[in-house]
Amino acid sequence: MTIRSQGPRPIRVGGRKKQLGPLHWALLISVGLNVVLLATRGGGDESPSEATPEAVTELDDPIGMPTPEEPTDGATGEAASDDDDSAPGMVAMAEGEAPAKFAKITINGPVSRGFVKAVGSPEGDRLALTVSRILVWNLNLTKDPRPGDVVEVLYRVNPEDEVDIDVLAVRYESEKFGKTFESWQYAPEGWKYPGWFDADGREVAAFLTDGPIKDYQQITSLIGDGRGHSGMDFKAPVGTELFAPFDGTVTRTNWKWKYNGNCVELRGSDGRTAKMLHLSGLADGIKPGSKVKAGDPIAMSGNTGRSFAPHLHYELSSSSGRTLDPVDEHTTKHRLLGGADKAGFATAVAELARRMDGPGSGE
Ligand SMILES: [Zn+2]
Repeated sequence: MTIRSQGPRPIRVGGRKKQLGPLHWALLISVGLNVVLLATRGGGDESPSEATPEAVTELDDPIGMPTPEEPTDGATGEAASDDDDSAPGMVAMAEGEAPAKFAKITINGPVSRGFVKAVGSPEGDRLALTVSRILVWNLNLTKDPRPGDVVEVLYRVNPEDEVDIDVLAVRYESEKFGKTFESWQYAPEGWKYPGWFDADGREVAAFLTDGPIKDYQQITSLIGDGRGHSGMDFKAPVGTELFAPFDGTVTRTNWKWKYNGNCVELRGSDGRTAKMLHLSGLADGIKPGSKVKAGDPIAMSGNTGRSFAPHLHYELSSSSGRTLDPVDEHTTKHRLLGGADKAGFATAVAELARRMDGPGSGE
């Protein structure tokens, strides 16, 4: 497939961002969201090294918007129901839940087009977006797919969430890496939201152990993901508690409200600056000049300013103003399921795999 991390459209649009009119914004948003799916942190031989433009520091991109893109013949897609050998099609879930669906595509072009071809638009675009965010820790969907790679997804469309698809399981068979990456959704004991885990019960995404947010639904954007986006985004409901990432002093709040919404900036003793945007509010007593310790409550996430879905935009910069990657700056780990979850996880994976592999194979 074509390699597009530095593809022509994002570059062209980015170069014009100083003269953006409404139409350009629409295009930028569309392109940016398309690119975010297909870019970012690979688990393999290349790291996202292109410099992140800093001009958009204050202009947080929306997250999670469907990517309008016309289906083309760039990929082959197989809807569940016409796949003889493996597709279970619609699978009834627990009472009251939307039915699970299954999609399987064989890569032969841009991944998002494969999904659109398989399940239509806009569902295919939304599915590609969510899947790309799950897979991003294993492979870069812009650079790493090879023709013939197979991606299988079990998912539900949640009528209450018009942005994201509820992805229950993903399997990606990669020729480049010579292995199949698996991500199984599971809700561990004590977690507010489910996460995605590999077959060994290791969380696929990295967790910032000393980061600003503990409970979130998904990391939806990373530095260097091709959007010219200078922050890391966490999808989280309005009102989610946020914490100071280091000791420091609050330098300003609620500037450029039109873009940033409610926001707070913290300067650490080492000169680093942290910004949190689109907040629903600040913690009690937080105002310019406030001293905080790492881990102190500082704000609540929200959906204010230029934000199209509830999320935290978290941005770090050096004393000279250079954008820093929170994944590098923070201590990270991939959380492991503990003993209490082992049996439940094994059962959940077996059930999801049964649904992916179809009736007759596991019943
Ligand atoms: Zn952001």
